[in-house]
Amino acid sequence: MKNYLVNIDKRFLDVIKKIGQESDRQKMSAYIVGGIVRDILLKKKNYDLDIVIEGNVKKLAQSLAKKLKAKAIFYEQFGTATLNLENKLRIDLVTVRKESYARSGALPNVKLGTLRDDLFRRDFTINAMAMGINHSNFGHLIDLFNGKEDIRHGKIRVLHDKSFIDDPTRILRAVRFEQRFQFHIERHTLSLLKKAIKNKLTDNVTPTRYFVEFKKMLCEKSPVPNLRRLKGLGGFYFLHPQFKINLRHVNAVHQNIQKMRRKSMYKDQNQWWMVYLLAIVTHLSGDQRKGFGKKVHLRREEAKSLAQLEDCSEIMKQFLRKSLKRSEILKMLHSLEESVIFYLRAKTNQQQSHQYIDRYWSVDKNVQLSISGEDLKQIGLHEGKKMGRMLNEIYYHKIDKHIQTKQEELKLAKQLY
Ligand code: ATP
Repeated sequence: MKNYLVNIDKRFLDVIKKIGQESDRQKMSAYIVGGIVRDILLKKKNYDLDIVIEGNVKKLAQSLAKKLKAKAIFYEQFGTATLNLENKLRIDLVTVRKESYARSGALPNVKLGTLRDDLFRRDFTINAMAMGINHSNFGHLIDLFNGKEDIRHGKIRVLHDKSFIDDPTRILRAVRFEQRFQFHIERHTLSLLKKAIKNKLTDNVTPTRYFVEFKKMLCEKSPVPNLRRLKGLGGFYFLHPQFKINLRHVNAVHQNIQKMRRKSMYKDQNQWWMVYLLAIVTHLSGDQRKGFGKKVHLRREEAKSLAQLEDCSEIMKQFLRKSLKRSEILKMLHSLEESVIFYLRAKTNQQQSHQYIDRYWSVDKNVQLSISGEDLKQIGLHEGKKMGRMLNEIYYHKIDKHIQTKQEELKLAKQLY
């Protein structure tokens, strides 16, 4: 039988071998499953290793943590463990399980099962394959539902007709994998998916859970084709019943995000998904946005970003003014969430606004005063609002380059005092 694990990254292969050897030692069967198997067949990089075992997860994870010098986290309640390795590799270990759904959109009831059960509980055939990693079957593909054939033909196919009813978040997953791999949702699967949307099955899932999948879509390299496809399928209902996405706007924002990501000053940011979300909800009213944020349980700073959209058009208007002082730009931007600043930068093609924001982001926001409250106390000022105002005043002068050194800061403090 063919060994599919010969051509993978060497470091990765070593880790898989060690897990296999330890499983052999503990007389357990272990398999890699899901996305990683799909990506090995597609020859794509993937550093998330999902392992299912026929045996005791905790015992295996404990000895692997030592062997691989990894940090292990145990989730007793789910009988799973995660190992985080130094080289950004993540290993999830779980016992083979069988899942059933009491009603559409509910969390599954889980019980011990066979490898077949574990593969059958998965979303699509391309994600329902396993590979043996024990000595006797190392690298052998276990493909019970023709996943390999579906990969070859670029098909996203569910494993059974109740799939979208059981878990409507799979609607988003189908679109995401279809767009990521340039596959197509197979005909019968597509009709089941459309039926699920028509019957508003997405309402059966808690909005938070649904949003987790939507966020993954926004984290894809090119979210716009995902959004276009979802729009075509009428899949935006969950955001807001009357919601109409403006894809031209999102696409314009996307084009600028692409350019921004190539600039060293923005390269390491990871808030881009939020910038897409801002572009998507920008046409909702303030109240609708607030309602949406609450519904999907956005984190505090994310909800704040949504609220700050309110200020964007006024700031853009101001940015059209010639010769804004650097301190004036700083005052407008410094209380904004990072994602809102990026959105402002990405929503316009206007050069001057780009320059204003770039200069703020790369230089001005990092400027610090050399003097502190202690220095002001020495010239006779007491702690309090007045001192705060004076420090701000000196800071703005520094931003505007009227002063640079500590001496100049002190001199100005004395003058102002
Ligand atoms: P990605 O490359 O985006 O991480 P992935 O396939 O690894 O893709 P995960 O969300 O990490 O996606 O899920 C890992 C595996 O768990 C999937 O490959 C699939 O087998 C299974 N899975 C995840 N979500 C579901 C779901 N909603 N229903 C059924 N199976 C799922």
